[in-house]
Amino acid sequence: MHMKCSLQKQATSAVSNAHRLWSFDNLLPVRKRQLSEDGTQKLLLELDDGQTIESVSMPMPSTRTICLSTQVGCPIGCTFCHTGQSGFIRNLTLPELMAQIRTAAFELHATTGIWPQRAVLMGMGEPLLNFEAVRDCLALLTAPGGPNLSWRKIQLSTIGLPRQLEELGRSRLALPAISLHAPTQKLRDLIMPGARKWPLDELIATLRSYPLPGRERITIEYILIRDVNDSQSHAELLHELLEGVRAKINLIPCNPVPGSPHISPGPERIESFARWLKALGGTAFIRRSLGPDILAACGQLRGEQNTALQTLPLRENGHPMENAS
Ligand code: SF4
Repeated sequence: MHMKCSLQKQATSAVSNAHRLWSFDNLLPVRKRQLSEDGTQKLLLELDDGQTIESVSMPMPSTRTICLSTQVGCPIGCTFCHTGQSGFIRNLTLPELMAQIRTAAFELHATTGIWPQRAVLMGMGEPLLNFEAVRDCLALLTAPGGPNLSWRKIQLSTIGLPRQLEELGRSRLALPAISLHAPTQKLRDLIMPGARKWPLDELIATLRSYPLPGRERITIEYILIRDVNDSQSHAELLHELLEGVRAKINLIPCNPVPGSPHISPGPERIESFARWLKALGGTAFIRRSLGPDILAACGQLRGEQNTALQTLPLRENGHPMENAS
């Protein structure tokens, strides 16, 4: 009886928090808006300390998805990512995460008349390095009184921190998408230097035992980069690595990033890579690139803005690596 009362209290508190944090009174200032020909909308939002983050709304065949940032910058330093190349500033707080979602949803509704039905945490930052705020945000996103999204309509994109991933699996607050991008530890260390701390074999072991409902699969994200990870032997190594993981592989053409040598292998090689995986028995899809005319690659809008606003003071509010393990 006592246990039931305590759970009821927690549920009531989540609902009242969701109501409070979901009100449209307190939106983030929009510094810049970009609308692509394909309907993708990108926002540059300003935080109280002058820092900026990006949010994107994306048109899907029958739904609208918002893509959210979880950190200002990112400490992982992926060589194919503009955010990773511009360094890490700080984690977003829970009120900032909720204000970002409200603002992105409000802007989407104002321009299309549609509220978002899906959310992906695939913007700036590594969500599991800001675990507590992100977990609380997901709880509010799925609570009645807030956006009330189904947890199966929320996807969290991560390089894969095993301990936090296990907790995500237990909590059932979102489905994971793993930013893998390389089939060997050596290559991953080269293109995702900040991910070294969490070895690939531990990640794969966690994925093999990850609890999944029904026919659900773990999404594996693999950015294809010409002459780096796009050969037939890379496809074979990737298939081998994922043995025993209920996975579907999303192949993503590398977006051009200013100052980066990486480029997409082109449509023919991408088709071949998907074919090699399928011939081995894998499930592979090619992801359509959205909003190329408005620089939809993560961090580019903020990068442009920061170039123009170099004199803005930056605040350093602690390093997430200390919180992560
Ligand atoms: S790709 Fe993701 S994890 Fe890598 S640097 Fe960019 S934001 Fe961070």
